[in-house]
Amino acid sequence: MSKIISEISKTGWRFNNSYARLPEMMFSRLNPVPSKAPKLIILNETLSEELGLNFCDVKDDHLALMFAGNLLPQGSECIAQAYAGHQFGHFTILGDGRAIMIGEHVAKNNKKFDIQFKGSGQTPYSRDADGRAALGPMLREYIVSEAIHSLGIPTTRSLAVVTTGESIIRETFLPGAILTRVASSHIRVGTFQYAAIKGDINSLKTLVNYAIDRHYPNLKNLNNPTLGLLNTVMEKQIELVTHWMRVGFIHGVMNTDNMAISGETIDYGPCAFMDTYNPETVFSSIDHNGRYAYFNQPGITKWNLTRFAESLILLIDENKDRAIDILKENINKFGEIYKKHWLNMMRKKLGLIGEKTEDENLINELLSWMNSNNADYTNTFCSLAKKNILSFKMFQNNKFTDWYQRWKNRLKMNNKTMEFSLSLMHENNPYVIPRNHKVEEALDAASNHNNLEPFKKLLKNLKKPYDNHSEMKDYQSPPLPCNKIYKTYCGT
Ligand code: AMP
Ligand code: MG
Repeated sequence: MSKIISEISKTGWRFNNSYARLPEMMFSRLNPVPSKAPKLIILNETLSEELGLNFCDVKDDHLALMFAGNLLPQGSECIAQAYAGHQFGHFTILGDGRAIMIGEHVAKNNKKFDIQFKGSGQTPYSRDADGRAALGPMLREYIVSEAIHSLGIPTTRSLAVVTTGESIIRETFLPGAILTRVASSHIRVGTFQYAAIKGDINSLKTLVNYAIDRHYPNLKNLNNPTLGLLNTVMEKQIELVTHWMRVGFIHGVMNTDNMAISGETIDYGPCAFMDTYNPETVFSSIDHNGRYAYFNQPGITKWNLTRFAESLILLIDENKDRAIDILKENINKFGEIYKKHWLNMMRKKLGLIGEKTEDENLINELLSWMNSNNADYTNTFCSLAKKNILSFKMFQNNKFTDWYQRWKNRLKMNNKTMEFSLSLMHENNPYVIPRNHKVEEALDAASNHNNLEPFKKLLKNLKKPYDNHSEMKDYQSPPLPCNKIYKTYCGT
């Protein structure tokens, strides 16, 4: 055993465990529950390299023991983090109920990355649940997070998936699995909510300073770094949700515990990408009222940031009313900032340069045409870059041709070449997204038929989403009516 530990410790791991130096109430110390017979399913070699890790000389069986948490690399210090959160609007004390962070790996340029095993057994925060995860949902997180990364959107990453050799009970018996998640940190809005509800102002202050040091050290020079943190997180979250809107991504569970202050997409559960454009699209089987529908995502981002602001009240001003006024004034800037980001993002999707007053109408009219004509969100934007767009039947209607003419006229006002506009469009409109029917097909083959080929093929096709290749055709088509997936499940 000690030989294997020394072997895996030579792969480049460099641990720093700064989170474990925070006040003790912020976490619990415990190791992952060992798995019975771990087996390596997939290892992300590109990410390993980016992190300065080299697993080439380690046997798969030994890697499986490491990524299951049965054998831990030297220097790791295992904890489950405490946090709270508003889940579908209701406040609850949560915490890592099925995840263990083994430490922060210090990569090249001294950048720190949390290394977390998700599905690694019960913790003090498990609340009667089993602490485990199933293979399907862990592969779903792997594929969608890697796709989001390739789309140029901030996200946590996936380093590996192992199966545990144990079955877990959900509606049926499912193969248990553990995902190794890599994040620039797991500090969430819910982490601040937890510190605030405990009413210990010193711990809250320590957490705020820690978050600033770790993510936004420049804020230390401001008069009010806490307010600076709120505004910076707001900016980051606006950038993030604008990206999601750009590619038609629906997170599905935008609870405050699933909002990282780093601005990375985190916690891939019943998430999915929209095929047909419909702003009311909801996939999650548990989102009965459409709280986290596509078009609600910016509003929910603001709602979550307001909960973040509330958790900072004690640090803003001794006078509570004054603190609330200051926070409100800042949060109320959300609408204007978001709208600016959204308009600019949509302008890029349409190749528009500069700002014209008619842009907003032009954008909204296209979206409304797409909605009433059941047009595919991704493919419509790709079609706009084609010279022969009007030869396709679905675009041969007066409403569209009228809009198209007005768009062409607006493009003339760009004062740049058409090539410039086209390259802007290509950079902002992906050809391929992880369409849900393809994701489900790959997960079904992997989980139920022991066949990882469709998963690997899909993964490969999602690597360069802004390039158009003929072999991608199958991944670009919207689902046939019989393959349409309306519901996705948390799989917890
Ligand atoms: P999530 O929906 O993944 O954001 O999880 C919400 C909360 O439920 C977190 O505190 C998780 O740690 C916890 N949780 C989810 N699934 C499990 C599970 N199988 N066992 C224990 N805790 C879980
Ligand atoms: Mg969560």
